Amino acid sequence: LTSGLESAWTKLKGEEVLTKENIVEPMRDIRRALLEADVSLPVVRRFVQAVSDQAVGTGLIRGVKPDEQLVKIVHDELVKLMGGEVSELVFSKSGPTVILLAGLQGVGKTTVCAKLANYLKKQGKSSMLIAGDVYRPAAIDQLVILGEQVGVPVYTAGTEVKPSDIARQGLEEAKKKKIDVVIMDTAGRLQIDKAMMDELKEVKKVLKPTEVLLVVDAMTGQEAAALVTTFNVEIGITGAILTKLDGDSRGGAALSVKEVSGKPIKLVGRGERMEDLEPFYPDRMAGRILGMGDVLTFVEKAQEVMRQEDAEDLQKKIMSAKFDFNDFLKQTRAVARMGSMTRVIGMIPGMGKVTPAQVREAEKSLKIMEAMIEAMTPEEREKPELLAESPERRKRIAQASGKTEQQVSQLVAQLFQMRVRMKNLMGVMEGGSMPTLSN
Ligand code: GDP
Ligand code: MG
Repeated sequence: LTSGLESAWTKLKGEEVLTKENIVEPMRDIRRALLEADVSLPVVRRFVQAVSDQAVGTGLIRGVKPDEQLVKIVHDELVKLMGGEVSELVFSKSGPTVILLAGLQGVGKTTVCAKLANYLKKQGKSSMLIAGDVYRPAAIDQLVILGEQVGVPVYTAGTEVKPSDIARQGLEEAKKKKIDVVIMDTAGRLQIDKAMMDELKEVKKVLKPTEVLLVVDAMTGQEAAALVTTFNVEIGITGAILTKLDGDSRGGAALSVKEVSGKPIKLVGRGERMEDLEPFYPDRMAGRILGMGDVLTFVEKAQEVMRQEDAEDLQKKIMSAKFDFNDFLKQTRAVARMGSMTRVIGMIPGMGKVTPAQVREAEKSLKIMEAMIEAMTPEEREKPELLAESPERRKRIAQASGKTEQQVSQLVAQLFQMRVRMKNLMGVMEGGSMPTLSN
């Protein structure tokens, strides 16, 4: 999508104002780019129309180039199309909040149950999961395992009980335990069918859920519009969760959901780990689509991961060139926790595409660094100079960590380089380039 839109902008270079004529070609590119991103055709049509009307209708703002103005209009329209603001989850004022998850098979419902519980836990809310996929015993086991992983109870009643009865029993149990949020997992099908819809309707009747969230795989593509429409008409949804946004998908589904159902995307899944669930920010998604990179998401993640005081402390150290191996370790671990390197790199403008091989390489090098730093004494970690001066120390670390002396030397050299490069990290916040962790 990004490259298609970029060519749209370049066509406007040198133009003085936006006219009906000179936007024809850029708009054709935008249209094609959106279709390639799997946005459904009616949505694309309405979008292009809205942008064209606005582009020609608005006079040129002084000091803003026509191509910049068109970017702005497209950006704002994209944001509007995706709901404008962040849509928060709604919580019930009395009794437990009930969240019913629906969606086709394999989209990530069961994973979302546990991710969501984990997400709510961070907000101080207790949850209980209800295993409502009775068609595959493995589905129940999967939920139980994920529940254990995030430390929340899972209500199960085996495969012989009707989902609506399981829902009723589970809800009672949650009320007894004074659980804040009940999350019900349901069975999906490969395609929409009547039995699935009937079952969901029945469960919904019993649970009277606060939220009915449709889980949509970001790869769904063109069919997303029809899918969302059907679920919304049949059972009535309050929002959607877009999963697998970390994959290769172009994310076109994100543009269709709100447009066809009037319901917002509330959360996005960006990976298989329990931490990989975040609010959906329409403006960031629009920025990403337009090739501005997801800078804000990156910055926010970095801040969340390195707690505030750590970040400030780190900044001071960077400024005073005292950045040591402890900081290095904290930093590399923070990056690792932020998720796969692809995601982080993908969020940085101008970094382009990263191959899976490069990602694996980067992750491997993080592991190697960690092993070597862990083999250092506290004093060595604080005073990297000790290692720079002593081949004996480097040799000892190489042996203890199972790496070569050359690797240790490289690491030491890298730390000193990092001291310089870390200063540039501050530049990232203003859209500069990111210092890489490995060479
Ligand atoms: P369900 O059939 O809807 O319950 O789907 P599952 O929760 O079992 O997920 C199906 C597969 O998708 C599993 O292998 C998950 O690990 C994977 N998955 C779920 N969410 C994400 C995501 O956001 N990103 C990626 N990459 N994989 C995901
Ligand atoms: Mg499942």
